[in-house]
Amino acid sequence: MSNSAAPHSILSIDQITKVYYDELTQLARKNRRMSNSHLKKRTTLLFNKNLSTVNISGMFSQKVFVGGAPPGISDTEILNAFGKYGNFTIEKKKANEKSSFFYVIYESNQCVKGLLTTCVINSVGEFYTRIGTHIVQVIPWEINNSHYVPATNMTLLDNKKVVFIGGLHGKMTAKFIAEVFSYFGPIVMVTIDVDKYKYPIGSGRVAFSDSQGYFTAIMQEFIDIETPDFRKTVQVTPQLEDSLCYICKSEVGPFFCKDFTCYQYYCTLCWKLKHSGPGYVHHQPLIRDSKHKPKLGPILSKFSNLSLK
Ligand SMILES: [Zn+2]
Ligand SMILES: [Zn+2]
Repeated sequence: MSNSAAPHSILSIDQITKVYYDELTQLARKNRRMSNSHLKKRTTLLFNKNLSTVNISGMFSQKVFVGGAPPGISDTEILNAFGKYGNFTIEKKKANEKSSFFYVIYESNQCVKGLLTTCVINSVGEFYTRIGTHIVQVIPWEINNSHYVPATNMTLLDNKKVVFIGGLHGKMTAKFIAEVFSYFGPIVMVTIDVDKYKYPIGSGRVAFSDSQGYFTAIMQEFIDIETPDFRKTVQVTPQLEDSLCYICKSEVGPFFCKDFTCYQYYCTLCWKLKHSGPGYVHHQPLIRDSKHKPKLGPILSKFSNLSLK
C-alpha cells in the first residue's frame, strides 16, 4: 500500500510505524530517567573505606574541578589564584546561594602538578587551595584511574558481558568500581568514560568474565553505593550495540528488551507484535543513549583486538 493510494483516514504502514516508534522512544527515555528510580530494583552496597587515593607523582588530566568558591567569584580572582601554575581557561562556572564551582583547564598536565604540590591535603586525601582568603577544594583526576584490569583475571573481553554504568561520583576510580561490581561476579575490566581532557564524564563500563556476573548486575537496575565520604546511586543497564531486529532480521533493532524471556533487540513493528500478547505487555524498551557512545580506551581496544584473533 503506497501513501498516495491510501484514503486520508487510513494510516499507511510507514505512518503507523512512526507513531509506534515515537511512543516506544518516549517510553524508553522515561525509563532511563532517574526520577522514577524508586520504582526500580536496587541494591545498597556499603564500603567502609576512603576513596581518595591520588598519587601525586601520577599523570593528571589537565582539567580540575574547583568547588566551594564564593558565589560571586570573579574571573580575575580565579586568574590570580590559578594563573601562577600556567595558562588556563574556565569552563562551566555555576553558582548556587552558598558557593560557586567550575572547571579549570590548563594548557598542560604539568600545570596541574604545580597546583597540586602547593595544595593542602587533608586527612582523607582531598586537595585544598586558596582564592584570596577563601579556601576551595580542587578535584584532580589521575588518568590511570580511568581503567582497571585485575591482574588475576586473564579472561578475554566479551562485549555481550559488558554493563553500562551511569551516575558515577567524581571520586570513583575504575579500581573502586571493580571492587563494587565484583560483588556480582568476577570482573575482566572497568573503563570510565572521559572527555577530550581525559576527565571523567560520569559514566563507564564494567566487563564481567561470565554471564552469571553480568546478569546478576543487570538485574540490579540501581546500586546505592555508600562510603564514609558520600552516597551515590549508580544506574546499571546492558551496554547496547547496533543490532538488527532479532525477529525480522532485516530492520535495524533500536529497542532492546531486557526481560529475560526476551533479552533481544527489536525493530518497531516486531516489538509491537512480540509485546502485544499476555505475559509480554509489561516489558519495557531500552534504547541506546546517543550522548554516551562508547569511547574505547587503550586497554579496551587492546582487548577487543585480542578477542577478534
Ligand atoms: Zn523486526
Ligand atoms: Zn520483551
